[in-house]
Amino acid sequence: MSKTNVVILGAGYAGLRALRSLQSKRLDIDITLVNKNEYHYEATYLHEVASGAHAAERISYPIKDVVTPKRTNFIQDTVVVVNKDEKTVELEKNGTISFDYLILALGFESESFGIKGVDEFGLPMVDIETSKAVDEHLRKQFEKYNETKDESYLSIVVCGAGFTSIEYIGELTLQMPKLVKQYNVPAEKIQITCIEAMSNLLPMFDKELSDYGIEILKKRGVKFFVGTPIKELTADTVIYEEAGELKSVKAKTIVWTTGVRGSSIVERSGFEQRRNRVMVENDLTAPGYPEIFIIGDCSAVMDSKTNRPFPPTAQIALKQGVSAANNLEAKLKGTAIKPFTFTSLGTVCSIGNTEAIGEVMGRNLKGYPASVMKKIIGDRSLMMTGGVGITAKKGRFDFFR
Ligand SMILES: Cc1cc2nc3c(=O)[nH]c(=O)nc-3n(C[C@H](O)[C@H](O)[C@H](O)COP(=O)(O)OP(=O)(O)OC[C@H]3O[C@@H](n4cnc5c(N)ncnc54)[C@H](O)[C@@H]3O)c2cc1C
Repeated sequence: MSKTNVVILGAGYAGLRALRSLQSKRLDIDITLVNKNEYHYEATYLHEVASGAHAAERISYPIKDVVTPKRTNFIQDTVVVVNKDEKTVELEKNGTISFDYLILALGFESESFGIKGVDEFGLPMVDIETSKAVDEHLRKQFEKYNETKDESYLSIVVCGAGFTSIEYIGELTLQMPKLVKQYNVPAEKIQITCIEAMSNLLPMFDKELSDYGIEILKKRGVKFFVGTPIKELTADTVIYEEAGELKSVKAKTIVWTTGVRGSSIVERSGFEQRRNRVMVENDLTAPGYPEIFIIGDCSAVMDSKTNRPFPPTAQIALKQGVSAANNLEAKLKGTAIKPFTFTSLGTVCSIGNTEAIGEVMGRNLKGYPASVMKKIIGDRSLMMTGGVGITAKKGRFDFFR
């Protein structure tokens, strides 16, 4: 009898965690892992690449380092669509592959909310390539300032004041002195503006904590426009609304970090979804498709406390990876599945290297202790996808890094 054919799409937090868990089990399965790149990247550190704080290699490692060739065939390719009824997946270069069980873990994309000009002029930060592009773009603008003396080349607008935006601004403000020196641009003429539609900043934290974080950024010279929804982007202008009036900021660097949705493959494949996230069953399968697990940012799981889906995070993606592997094993063995449950351990937002704010297991943290906790959480995640060897090789036990 041929082995059961398990296909995993996506080698992010959810996909790699599921892979490692399946590889460690004694099951009569063949695993195929499909991922766009030959490397895994830690999406939670993309802002460090976008701000130029660290090279991409620092937050990525080769997928082959976690693949057991005897059990897993890795295909580097881009998924085009899942034919859920035929149980096949179409790939860009390698044609069509079939599956008995599928784990779909294709992650997130930038959300434009249909705002004019975002796709053309907003710089997203959703993978290594786009994050490197943000850094390279900013450096080019500084060079252009020296040629033209046009100050809009020194103006940066960060759209949105969520987690990603704040972490990027935190790191960017720390990198700025180095950039100023390298490109010989006037520090006093550089302007970083953050524009947010909602009226409160970092609402996931107590006000005392969010005020602490925002004050640090203000002291580093960042301007915040709050309760001011963005209406349009052009090549060098961000147009927003304030008290019913349209206003604008000139900027040649416009970073778009207002939010994310799941992979568009979800919608293209005909799954019932909202913002490309499927409300999965309690075993993490898609409704009506007991052989298709959907995990990570492509899935939605209800939080009974808030009656809203849990926010998509690496923390939940990692836990789903293990749960999907266990439930797949249960299905193969005919044993009972375990409903997925999740309790957040907390959240820490970096304000740049040794500054952070966070709430962990009910305790509020700020400053250096919060930044150490952030690094511990990151190292724990890396250990879960890459193992101890990769974590040590990356020099990740240094809390001043
Ligand atoms: C700057 C930033 C900071 C963050 N900070 C935190 C934090 O502090 N804590 C936290 O818990 N979460 C944080 N998040 C959110 C977290 O990164 C995501 O929730 C998490 O990455 C989701 O994991 P995933 O496995 O679903 O997807 P991903 O990590 O996005 O992985 C998806 C994988 O699929 C691959 N892929 C995508 N499309 C295709 C395709 N068509 N074909 C083949 N392969 C494809 C991608 O290349 C990638 O390898 C942060 C996110 C960002 C951007």
